[in-house]
Amino acid sequence: MKLIYKKISVFLSLFILICNISACDSITPTNLNNTHINNETTVENQLISTVSTINTNNSFIPYTEYNELGRVPIMMYHGIENIKSSTTGFAGGNVDKDGYFRTAEAFREDLEFFYNSGYRMIRLIDYVNGIIDCPAGYSPIILTFDDGYESNIRINNINTDGSLDIDKNSAIGILEEMKQKYPDFNVTATFFLTSKLFRNKNSKISMHWLIENGYDIGNHTFSHIDLTTNDVNFAITDVALQYENLDEILGPNKAVNIVALPLGAPYSFEDKRASSLIDFYIGEKHYHTASLMRVGYAPERSPYDKNINIHYIMRVRAYDNNGEEYDIESTFRLLNKTRYISDGNINTITIKEQDSHMLGNTYDLSIISY
Ligand SMILES: [Zn+2]
Repeated sequence: MKLIYKKISVFLSLFILICNISACDSITPTNLNNTHINNETTVENQLISTVSTINTNNSFIPYTEYNELGRVPIMMYHGIENIKSSTTGFAGGNVDKDGYFRTAEAFREDLEFFYNSGYRMIRLIDYVNGIIDCPAGYSPIILTFDDGYESNIRINNINTDGSLDIDKNSAIGILEEMKQKYPDFNVTATFFLTSKLFRNKNSKISMHWLIENGYDIGNHTFSHIDLTTNDVNFAITDVALQYENLDEILGPNKAVNIVALPLGAPYSFEDKRASSLIDFYIGEKHYHTASLMRVGYAPERSPYDKNINIHYIMRVRAYDNNGEEYDIESTFRLLNKTRYISDGNINTITIKEQDSHMLGNTYDLSIISY
């Protein structure tokens, strides 16, 4: 085991070093190679042979120490504005003071950073169901968008053949660009909508397009009223109304049964206005919610961790605050030590032996410990 610890620490130091050198921007093959040459004499043989197998087209070095009890970032975005980051008057691509809106330029940079740091996208609903489909040595990341801003998917024109001319600087325009550029990024995202949908006349067309093109739509309640300002009955009704609304537009069970709580409230799952949303009846009809998105600031636990409450999960606000207070940079700095590292097999959970007491729900998968 000592050897394994040593290898992990060498690997992490190397990765952190590379990250520091490049200020956590995209790591180019050139500076990566230089780093290796400089460190070669201090690195043990085993590690060098691993490094030498990397694909030169991809600057990321897949980890060899799998950790499927690691943390998973679930990023929370809102609107994307097509303006230059240098013109916003706020830090690194924030459009507003709190960074709920990002520039198209910053969103592109975020995605490049995730890709080049070895993150590959998975669906939120898959994570909730314990399905982490990610290549060996890479880490899962989940994207979400709240409130249905038109800048999530802006349709410039509907072509005569029925295809959509989507604004290349809307969130979907940029995500589709990444899908072309990096086919192994596994581009996907979940859009949480209220009764306002995407706030424009093409909302329903957009929703159908998203479902048909590998994206998900979730429930952000019908009215977007803070659920703690009312009673349990209001909470379940507001969620049920939006489930019905989404079913009517998309067809039954096309939307995912995940609810993003408006303003992240209630702040405790003990509050019945949160916990009651998991299973409830309106008249005779039963509603089931797989998970609630609560207020968050950090990457969430692995779905296999005994301390996760899979019904009440945390997201990371995708914003820039000069590397402080849970912004993107500080979050991913933390993740370098705690990230979920996939074994590349959806049927097994690979963990370090000393972490086996942390296993919770294993979703009937086989466990491999080392
Ligand atoms: Zn919201």
